[in-house]
Amino acid sequence: MHTLRASKYGLAIKKLPPSIIEVIDVLTKAGYEAYIVGGGVRDLILGLNPKDFDAVTNATPAQIKSAFGRRCRIIGRRFELAHVYIGRDLIEVATFRAPPKKEVTSAQGMILRDNNWGTIEQDFVRRDFSINAMYYEPRKGIILDFCHAIDDIKNKTLRLLGDPAKRFEEDPVRMLRTLRFAAKLNFDIAEDILKIFTPEMAKLLRDISPHRLYDESQKMFTMGALDLVLPLLIKFDVWKQLFADISPEVTPFIERVAYNTDQRIQVGKSINPAFFYAVLLWDNFLERTQFYLNKQLAPAEARAQAGLDVIKRQCTRTVIPRFTETFIREVWEMQVRLLNPKPQQIESLAGHARFRAGFDFLYLREKSGDTTTEGMGQWWEDYQHLSRDEKEIVIAKYNRQRNKKRQHVVEVIDTQEPLVKEERTRSRFSRKVKSSSTAEAVSTPDRQRSNGYETSVDVIDAKHPILKRKRVQRNLSHVTFGPTQ
Ligand code: ATP
Ligand code: MG
Repeated sequence: MHTLRASKYGLAIKKLPPSIIEVIDVLTKAGYEAYIVGGGVRDLILGLNPKDFDAVTNATPAQIKSAFGRRCRIIGRRFELAHVYIGRDLIEVATFRAPPKKEVTSAQGMILRDNNWGTIEQDFVRRDFSINAMYYEPRKGIILDFCHAIDDIKNKTLRLLGDPAKRFEEDPVRMLRTLRFAAKLNFDIAEDILKIFTPEMAKLLRDISPHRLYDESQKMFTMGALDLVLPLLIKFDVWKQLFADISPEVTPFIERVAYNTDQRIQVGKSINPAFFYAVLLWDNFLERTQFYLNKQLAPAEARAQAGLDVIKRQCTRTVIPRFTETFIREVWEMQVRLLNPKPQQIESLAGHARFRAGFDFLYLREKSGDTTTEGMGQWWEDYQHLSRDEKEIVIAKYNRQRNKKRQHVVEVIDTQEPLVKEERTRSRFSRKVKSSSTAEAVSTPDRQRSNGYETSVDVIDAKHPILKRKRVQRNLSHVTFGPTQ
């Protein structure tokens, strides 16, 4: 074990938030050992801004609870630890762990429960990477390094402690952590990890709960290095395990949003991981919408059903919480509203709660070369920067163009076969419903049957499997898709 002088590596008590110092002080005063460990120490040494600080102690969760009282909650079953709330900060306080007992390991070697308390020497070998296993005592100004972690930091190498295959089998999430840290820190993955990180190994992620995978995916989306991690997910066959049906390919749209997300994080702007899920699942959503359109569902119904299906499928890998699902579907639905808004609704659309996300999505689609946005991304971008009077002028201009376009569509239909004409006389809008193009389903505002328009659902045979399909109960009461509804 090496004792390093913290100041030599740029660590100083004044660089720490008061909350973590308070946690260390309370535990030390109560007679326990307490250290800052993990990402906080690693990032400070690397000159990065730590996302949070974790503490470790020889106090058991129950003892931590009695030291902090109501400010502490014990969480986790598989991996029990204490959450300590100091002001607005949450500090995770773990207890030193010894090797797990045999009976809590699955047939594949996965640790099912990890609550065997131990000493600091036992604790460091249980951590994942050497660079995450440095223990910092801020009051003494020292760092305890048990495994030459400081050399790995200097060499920019990500090294697992112990036998990599065994460590992945014990906890397959370490595969995701490997790719996340390699991308975030721009470190090389050690040779012995590369050797065993096969597609077969990646399959072990199937045993991980969708909740845990969702948490990990969120960390991945918000760490500021999506551009590097996405190709790694594909290269190591982890993508398939995380995203059930999403084709393993960084499309221009995904690439653009990944770059944009990383940029936002760099300048300290907030990001919503749900937005990235909406992007990843977009092609699947379009494809599924097309599927339902081919089955003669009306566009609105096709989109609603497609949204449900796509998210439900993804939930088999990473749970998508209700509020995330609502966000994703609202962003998708906004694409229709923003693409072909009624002129009198433009102003209220721009003030809609989901406008910002919906617009960003549309704009980034356009910027990545998606021509089905018909230039409306740029239109909305310009619109937002206009004065009130200028807005009125562009809306009037938009209205004229829109009328022209609608007239053109009617003329085109007039030259088509009689059946279509006949339907048009029945309903002025039936042409939209008859369309089976996904682009149209997403680009033309569709109408409810209550508005008196015909939908193609009417012509589906009652025995059609879609009509027999058991629908998932959708609670859209709290969802506002925009002023058109
Ligand atoms: P960051 O918080 O920046 O994402 P971190 O390294 O602090 O990175 P946490 O998930 O906060 O990651 O975990 C804190 C520490 O707990 C890690 O540094 C590591 O020492 C240990 N740890 C976390 N997850 C695992 C794991 N699956 N296996 C072994 N050790 C782990
Ligand atoms: Mg951390």
